[in-house]
Amino acid sequence: MTLIIPDLKPKCNKIAESVQRARDTYNRGVSRPIKWRLQQLKNLLRMYEENRNAMIEALQKDLRRSKMEAVILEIDYLVNDLKSTIHHLEDWAKPEKPEKGLINMLDDVVIFNDPYGVALVIGPWNYPLQLLLLPLSGAISAGNTVILKPSELAVACTAFIAETLPKYLDNDAVIVIEGGPEETTELLKQKFDYIFFTGGTSIGKIVYQAAVKNLTPVTLELGGKSPVYIDNSVDIVVTAKRILWGKLVNAGQTCIAPDYILCTREIQDKFIAAAKKILKEWYGSDAQKSPDLGRIINGRHFSRLQAMVDAGKDKIAIGGSYDAKDRFIEPTIFTDVKASDKIMQDEIFGPLLPIVPIENAFEAIQFINGRDHPLVIYVFTNQRDIHKTFAEQTRSGSICVNDTIMFYGVETLPFGGVGASGIGAYHGKKTFDTFTHKKSCLIKDFSSFGEKMASGRYPPYTDSNIEF
Ligand code: NAD
Repeated sequence: MTLIIPDLKPKCNKIAESVQRARDTYNRGVSRPIKWRLQQLKNLLRMYEENRNAMIEALQKDLRRSKMEAVILEIDYLVNDLKSTIHHLEDWAKPEKPEKGLINMLDDVVIFNDPYGVALVIGPWNYPLQLLLLPLSGAISAGNTVILKPSELAVACTAFIAETLPKYLDNDAVIVIEGGPEETTELLKQKFDYIFFTGGTSIGKIVYQAAVKNLTPVTLELGGKSPVYIDNSVDIVVTAKRILWGKLVNAGQTCIAPDYILCTREIQDKFIAAAKKILKEWYGSDAQKSPDLGRIINGRHFSRLQAMVDAGKDKIAIGGSYDAKDRFIEPTIFTDVKASDKIMQDEIFGPLLPIVPIENAFEAIQFINGRDHPLVIYVFTNQRDIHKTFAEQTRSGSICVNDTIMFYGVETLPFGGVGASGIGAYHGKKTFDTFTHKKSCLIKDFSSFGEKMASGRYPPYTDSNIEF
């Protein structure tokens, strides 16, 4: 048998050449003028407006995403963010004049908002448009050129981006590289001035290691298990609706989906009773027939979730069915789950919801603090001191009280993880700042008065200028 070894050279050359092209464009100063940035952002906005249906279709093909979820969670989100960036850009990009002390009274103290240079943006498959294009517009708004690497698993969305983006944007400044781990590995051998990665924690570590080689600054938007705590002061029906919606949009394939619930056995029973009614109302008696429930991205992720269902079948209170041909997993809730159960070992990333009984808020805090810092902690309570205690005694990227997911849409709240859930943050102006180097500048006064004031620093040194 002859082993055919593919020739990787041409691909590697193309990647190196593309990065060099983006660098040449940056070095020629093409991407720095505000006028150019605004034009590219307006072109991108036009792309969203002219290709709305194509984007909905691509999301439908990859994830069987409903039109409603495609529009509110990706397309409108991108459009609104871009409109706001276009509106504010000139103001954001202006040199800043920070406060100065008496000693610099005669001087100018300035912070220039410099682009980094060439940015690499690597996207995941779960929100394949939003999570790639939001950092893209941030990188452009800050004056960088960009190499974009969409996820190979979101086949239709990646094809859409590779075909459509070059029709709207400067092809020497924004370059799409398609491919999976092999191409990304090659990409990561190149020198970048900023790397923005969204994906799992294990690949995030690979990206971070590659960045270290050139001391390239990074944003790592990673995942993990985001817990929910519910106490007995809440309206359990509204609570269940908000948690189940957060869990089931995009069939649970959301980095900030509530991963598991911590509550007392009493609340567990009430939650299950409410959830039964809600799920029937939302998806009917056969959830597989509902047009509103998405599908699992591919066979590998389906098998991963199926194994969790099978391992926990004795603890299923609601759901439990699946269909490999359709990559359908029924919304499934497990009760009396233990920390040692399979489903509690890794991020679930699917429509499965375990409930781990605990006695009180303090036990919940201990449980959370015994694990990696999550991307978000959800607290459902009407008691101010309880959510204050969670905010003070736990660490997570964000904390959201009495709802799920919705904090993500607040433009003025920076979004990102901490520890294993990530490094850095973005959204709103923070996206512009993420792709911007804040360059400090002191412009010293040359007057003889100024020189006299500062002359005490020159040798020969005497004690008269030092206070004891
Ligand atoms: P992933 O880490 O598998 O892939 C992300 C990107 O890395 C893809 O573009 C992929 O091609 C590339 N990649 C895969 N293997 C690689 C390798 N060996 N070397 C270099 N690059 C490689 O993540 P995913 O499965 O696409 O997304 C799911 C994960 O992302 C979940 O953990 C989720 O929580 C997380 N996520 C985080 C956020 C956030 O904003 N914090 C958002 C969405 C998803």
